[in-house]
Amino acid sequence: MKTIDQVNFSGKKALIRVDFNVPLDKDYNITDDNRITGALPTIQKILKEGGAVILMSHLGRPKDGPTEKYSLKHVVKHLSDLLGQQVEFADDCIGEQAVEKAKDLKAGEVLLLENLRFYKEEEKGDKDFAEKLSKLGDVYVNDAFGTAHRAHASTAVIAQFFPNAKYFGYLMAGELANAEKILNHAEKPFTAIMGGAKVSDKIELIEKLLEKVDNLIIGGGMAYTFAKAQGGTIGNSLLEADKQELALSLLEKAKAKGVNIILPTDTIIADDFSNDAKTGVAPTNAIPDGWQGLDIGPETVKAFSKVIEESKTLLWNGPMGVFEMESFDKGTKAVAEAVVRATKNGAFSLIGGGDSAAAVAKFGLSNDVSYVSTGGGALLEYMEGKELPGVKAINE
Ligand code: AMP
Repeated sequence: MKTIDQVNFSGKKALIRVDFNVPLDKDYNITDDNRITGALPTIQKILKEGGAVILMSHLGRPKDGPTEKYSLKHVVKHLSDLLGQQVEFADDCIGEQAVEKAKDLKAGEVLLLENLRFYKEEEKGDKDFAEKLSKLGDVYVNDAFGTAHRAHASTAVIAQFFPNAKYFGYLMAGELANAEKILNHAEKPFTAIMGGAKVSDKIELIEKLLEKVDNLIIGGGMAYTFAKAQGGTIGNSLLEADKQELALSLLEKAKAKGVNIILPTDTIIADDFSNDAKTGVAPTNAIPDGWQGLDIGPETVKAFSKVIEESKTLLWNGPMGVFEMESFDKGTKAVAEAVVRATKNGAFSLIGGGDSAAAVAKFGLSNDVSYVSTGGGALLEYMEGKELPGVKAINE
């Protein structure tokens, strides 16, 4: 793997694609800085060797050019605090000011560029735009695992302008090594825990995992499509009606491959999609009319926890219920705690990014699992066996 360990950055300007797409509250405070802290080892290694660092990232999904809400200037103070030095900011990621500031940057200094997605060219993978960005640095480093599945200007297209000077940062290298470990060197029993809202988002991953895992736990909103497909009644619970056939065929495939699929047997039901709703417990396949399943029930928690604790490798993607609401976070919390217990007993646990990472962070357990990925979609695609454009661009 081409990593920054192969370069001495003394006197060099490193142009680093980071993923600083962090959640901000209404006062622009960062509510989860995992993606920023994840990039610090790369930045610090380069600064320590006497290099200068130019950081580029996207933030959110701006539709029409510069938007206050999506400005990366909101990240400057926190990043400066974390690095213990003032970070410079350029109001634009290309153009005169960016060029001047990059040129004036001295060894040991850090410059953050404004949101790349203020230009439509970024997501279009525009070559001219990528070339303009490339002029700002001598070495290109990609440390943005969260966007590695996108062939954008700064994540993939730009690499061609650094044919002999393009490398993975430590975060990318770590993400790839951990994903690889799960895919190709998993100690058995290997259990995948799938949750979240939709089966349709995760079909390819589930199919791929059936080749690898001993146990597949299915919770969250997607479980009700399975319950309905098997003839249950699910009230107003989440249903992807057109995916019922597929759910049954996944169960068949699992059986043929000897994979143990564990579905929820009981459910926390609510009379409304609200934290203050009236709640109860019902069998997952007999949810009364007017009610919806918003979390796994206590019997299911016990069954899932047992399988998790007996595992040596764990991959978790997607919450077990609507964990954002306190009334429906118990199942997700219990699963997180079971994963922590298994990890303490020597299992390797990888938490897929996105909502699973947010859930583990909410319960304060991020440091008690083996690895929390910073990439939601990117990790899923990598696990599905797809080549990530951001990875390919460095490797080729
Ligand atoms: P995903 O992005 O597919 O991982 O889905 C995550 C979202 O699924 C979270 O916002 C959860 O609140 C939601 N979710 C999980 N379980 C349920 C459920 N039983 N009903 C509705 N939404 C759910």
